[in-house]
Amino acid sequence: MENVQTKKTVLVTGGTGFLGGHTVLQLLQQGYDVKTTLRSLAKKDTILKALEEGGITDFSNLSFIEADLTSGNNWDEAVKGCDYVLHVASPFPAQDPKDENELIIPARDGALRVLKASRDAGVKRVVLTSSFAAVGYSKNIADHIFTEEDWTDINAELPAYIKSKTVAEKSAWEFIEKEGNGLELSVINPVGIFGPVIGGITSASLDIAVSGILNGTMNQTPPFTMGVVDVRDVADIHIKAMLHPDAAGERFIATSDDVMSFYDVAELFKKERPQYSSNIQNLEPIGKEFYKQMSNKKAKTILSWTPRSREEALLASADSLMINP
Ligand code: NAP
Repeated sequence: MENVQTKKTVLVTGGTGFLGGHTVLQLLQQGYDVKTTLRSLAKKDTILKALEEGGITDFSNLSFIEADLTSGNNWDEAVKGCDYVLHVASPFPAQDPKDENELIIPARDGALRVLKASRDAGVKRVVLTSSFAAVGYSKNIADHIFTEEDWTDINAELPAYIKSKTVAEKSAWEFIEKEGNGLELSVINPVGIFGPVIGGITSASLDIAVSGILNGTMNQTPPFTMGVVDVRDVADIHIKAMLHPDAAGERFIATSDDVMSFYDVAELFKKERPQYSSNIQNLEPIGKEFYKQMSNKKAKTILSWTPRSREEALLASADSLMINP
């Protein structure tokens, strides 16, 4: 366990989620006092089970508070006494709703609620979980390597989830610039998050790209590649961005090296995990013109972040889902 010299208190929003759970786990392992929000305290046991699976036996440094992104209730209480806030929660359904506002409103207004409450409570820094969705979804991808300089254009025709993440991140930066009053913001833009499932908590990315391929419901290769990153490295980069003096005011793409199509993922499983692969459909490779590429240089250089490989992330997901289905 790393020592935290002066014990700091960190709020993680959305401890019931795949990334939220892993983030709470790493903070507890490193000796922080951790608070986490959930929409309903009835879900507390899900988090406790995940943390136990992750090796936590002493829960005295963890507390829970009920808060919903769509309501102003309890956010002041949630951030009270916190040095840092990691705002991870945001709606991430496997399928887009008919009305995009079902995602945009909680994502944007929730982020603003968390930022306002944090500013008023004297929090030092908020780290917001945005997404590569806010970086790379409206530009011609040919020969372009996406960096933190790129922004998805919110005026383009976009799926609701992608729009919700872009609008939320833009609103967060605007708030910091105009009303932040010294509150620091750092943003993480992960690509598809994979890695081990703990406590049975999955997410849309795992359901679609790992379970969907292994159980054979994915029967064609969508015409795009995705970046892959391990949830343990995404939790780690949040903590690095929370602490590093140079991370304030910056966004960081979180991706392992290289990208993959769903065909590549299926081939990886067939080669490395033939025991799980009997239901995988015959997927077709896609052309290089569909390869969307992004850079992790900034996170590696500024934060000394060293992500696991995409293969390790995906195989860890498959193993945790197939061994503990
Ligand atoms: P997840 O498991 O679905 O987690 C989403 C979390 O947000 C859950 O804790 C969920 O709570 C919470 N949430 C949703 N709507 C809420 C609301 N109205 N009020 C309060 N909490 C709410 O997905 P995840 O992958 O861990 O996602 C975590 C973050 O990473 C999100 O910001 C997501 O956009 C971002 N991200 C994910 C990926 C990926 O590939 N997984 C990639 C890039 C960015 P409940 O348990 O109550 O539903």
